[in-house]
Amino acid sequence: MIELKNIHKHFKTNHVLKGINLEVNKGDVLVIIGPSGSGKTTLLRCINYLERPDEGQISVDGFSVQGKHPSKHDILTLRRKTAMVFQHYNLFKNKTVLENVMEGLVVAKKMTKSEAKEISLALLEKVGLAEKVNDYPSQLSGGQQQRVGIARALALNPSVILFDEPTSALDPEMVGEVLAIIKQIASEGITMVIVTHEIDFARDAANRVVFMDDGVIVEQGHPQEVLVQPKHERLKQFLKRLV
Ligand code: ADP
Repeated sequence: MIELKNIHKHFKTNHVLKGINLEVNKGDVLVIIGPSGSGKTTLLRCINYLERPDEGQISVDGFSVQGKHPSKHDILTLRRKTAMVFQHYNLFKNKTVLENVMEGLVVAKKMTKSEAKEISLALLEKVGLAEKVNDYPSQLSGGQQQRVGIARALALNPSVILFDEPTSALDPEMVGEVLAIIKQIASEGITMVIVTHEIDFARDAANRVVFMDDGVIVEQGHPQEVLVQPKHERLKQFLKRLV
């Protein structure tokens, strides 16, 4: 479903991604872990060209884009195959919960308002927000706002959902409700790539874990191998610091 070949990214002189190769299969729930600054978020944002890699090729669901200057059309086509859930939710503050979810369907997918409304209401019910559809984001808790973000991503019916530290802006008591929704969606077979610091979640919900450090993938595999029987010293140290 996703194939990354030799992805390099610099921010000025900072070489942040140093030749990443990665394959994600359909239905995979792939969790990326690693120390702060290791390049996890940059890698995730390269998958839909929110960050442009300097070098390398990205394919999502059979569509490939390469290099630093692809056409706008190619970037748009790639982006439409993905949806992203952001750390800070990125909701429209002047739109209601329902309007936030409908927006992509009406604008990008050119659905009628009534079609978009029907789909959005069903998804908001699924994430437990049926009673909040007419509220504005500011009236919701962080956990509820993130659930709107997840409903919005699902509405686009993407080939892949990319989660960028979806719980790291939340108060601790709200982390569980958001992880539970992500886990529920994961069990439905949607391909997901999740950058997170929640190691218990990775152990529970992922079928593959990738450990990044200093712009490279150091180790990857089943959560039982990577998290329980790590091979590389850097990963052992990283896991030790978390307990
Ligand atoms: P992680 O997600 O693992 O914490 P990031 O991908 O956010 O790591 O960052 C990797 C490196 O790239 C860090 O050194 C960070 O400071 C740098 N970086 C990330 N985004 C930008 C940007 N937009 N401009 C300049 N440097 C950036």
